[in-house]
Amino acid sequence: VTRLILILGDQLTDTIAALRAADKDRDVVVMAEVWAEATYVPHHPKKIAFVLSAMRKFASRLRDAGWTVAYTRLDDADNAGSIAAELLRRADATGAKDVIATQPGEWRLIAELDALPLKVTQLPDDRFIATNAEFAKWAEGRKTLRMEYFYREMRRKTGLLMDGDQPAGGQWNFDHDNRKPAKGGLFGKAPLRHDPDDVTAAVLDLVADRFGDNFGSLRPFWFATDRRGALAALDHFITHALPEFGAFQDAMLADDRFLNHAVIGLYLNIGLLLPLEVCEAVAKAYARGEAPLNSAEGFIRQIIGWREFVRGIYFLEGPDYASRNALGHDRALPALYWGAETRMNCLSHAVAQTREEAYAHHIQRLMVTGNFALLAGIDPGAVHEWYLAVYADAFEWVEAPNTVGMSQFADGGVVGSKPYVSSGAYIDRMSDYCGGCAYKVKEKTGPDACPFNLLYWHFLLRHRARFEGNPRMGQMYRTWDKMDAGRRKAVLSDADSFLNRLSAGDTV
Ligand code: SF4
Repeated sequence: VTRLILILGDQLTDTIAALRAADKDRDVVVMAEVWAEATYVPHHPKKIAFVLSAMRKFASRLRDAGWTVAYTRLDDADNAGSIAAELLRRADATGAKDVIATQPGEWRLIAELDALPLKVTQLPDDRFIATNAEFAKWAEGRKTLRMEYFYREMRRKTGLLMDGDQPAGGQWNFDHDNRKPAKGGLFGKAPLRHDPDDVTAAVLDLVADRFGDNFGSLRPFWFATDRRGALAALDHFITHALPEFGAFQDAMLADDRFLNHAVIGLYLNIGLLLPLEVCEAVAKAYARGEAPLNSAEGFIRQIIGWREFVRGIYFLEGPDYASRNALGHDRALPALYWGAETRMNCLSHAVAQTREEAYAHHIQRLMVTGNFALLAGIDPGAVHEWYLAVYADAFEWVEAPNTVGMSQFADGGVVGSKPYVSSGAYIDRMSDYCGGCAYKVKEKTGPDACPFNLLYWHFLLRHRARFEGNPRMGQMYRTWDKMDAGRRKAVLSDADSFLNRLSAGDTV
């Protein structure tokens, strides 16, 4: 009897569990471009085009390999509109009663599959290095979950950058070497750009037609949309950018959107690249003497440490995770996140780049857009939906712990031991944004004061009861208490008036 083999848009891997469990001679692979998936948040047009084009090419690849593929295009007249409805339609047509899926990377779709009146098997997604069960076992009985310790387990498990049972270079983590600010002219090793082929060109026309009003520029479109292109992008990164990736990975420059970043997260997250293979390629470059240890280790930590850790958290914490709001923040997401004018140069650059590229690197996300949202008390659910919508690499299992947890502290400290907040001084140190800003980063009060300076204290004071006892934050409260009373009053009243203007929709 025919079974349906479900392949989702972020499961484009030849060796994915559902395909391994399938029988080419009798089963039908189901792939569907559906309205529900394209619209549950207003995705960036580049992200939609990326996924749809990669799905179409993956389906061709499966057909070439002898699979029967029932593929539904977004504009097919009989498109049933959702993954569940498409499976039911295909079950009707083929008489299939069984569905084999690889477990989706979000609770929403897991529940959708569970609710089907068919026998659905959701196999563990073993493209990841740690299984959900392995993570749960590691987490059991620990008072706090910290990536660093989990990461060491993953180093041991994979043997990456290990000398026997010791870490290469005698330490696990070289982050202290990786915080150099940058100067213009250092970089220019942008990610590999791929010209759209006929398949992508057709998808671009479709997306322009259906999603042209979404936030984000569809063209120029330069992402790879197949495995070969993704591997070329990885090679390009390792050859040109990896050697200096580590040292400058937290830097930001107004005229260089990519610096030495790999921009392969999107390829990993839809399955065109596998986490272990990219880490092995980087470890080999280190072993050949083509990249320093701080770069190789920093990269590998992002993949087998952070990426695996946040996935573990997402599944450990359960379906309510993305809607948590531990700090009770409820301000509406300001229009500047959707491109409305702002006088804050750092935000203006981060958002403009997001609009054009569907990409910003981790410090732009964490310390500019994320930091501002947290300081200003924006509703973390709205922040979460924004990140999920605007970045080509954003899928809920990875985006929610990064946003709701690490960036917004809305999980109350599951992911991070303290909130990631800073005044303008951090942004000034790590970027060249402040020189071109209408605000003055050195000013602490008054109309020209950098809003990050005002809001930093406002945030700390709003949440004093929660954070004062945190050993990593007590010092800040002591600094505040020692400040001149008149200055403290001015900071808070300037912050209040800034927030009022923000909420009123004024250009800030
Ligand atoms: Fe951003 Fe403040 Fe610097 Fe302006 S002065 S770019 S608002 S950190």
